[in-house]
Amino acid sequence: MINSRRLEDLLPVVQAKAEKMIAAARAEDIDLIVTSTYRDHASQNALYAQGRTKPGKVVTNAKGGQSWHQFRVAFDVVPVRAGKAIWNDTALWKRIGAIGKKFGLEWAGDWKTFKEYPHFQYRGGLTMRELAQGAEPK
Ligand SMILES: [Zn+2]
Repeated sequence: MINSRRLEDLLPVVQAKAEKMIAAARAEDIDLIVTSTYRDHASQNALYAQGRTKPGKVVTNAKGGQSWHQFRVAFDVVPVRAGKAIWNDTALWKRIGAIGKKFGLEWAGDWKTFKEYPHFQYRGGLTMRELAQGAEPK
């Protein structure tokens, strides 16, 4: 199972946007750590099981094959302060979301059905089906 935290495991165009976003946040005194980039099919299925057939909280609605992470176009971040991850500061998440959007990233904090503050992605207008067929965002 692969669940990478390396930005190098994203598509280059997405990696560049992630790096710019993290640097811009840093300039605003927001330290972001990357908690997930590329996940393979098995790893996504394991995550989907969490809160369903395995203990824990539901963290995704995507089974293997249905996650943007599997196509190397999505990453998750969390702000850290004094070495601790800050999960519950909505105002801070909104600032982070705004920073990501400046670089053309989609922020899952804007999603209606399954809001996910840590999740950012760039698919260049492509659908998941097109990505699955090997198309790459520009
Ligand atoms: Zn995500």
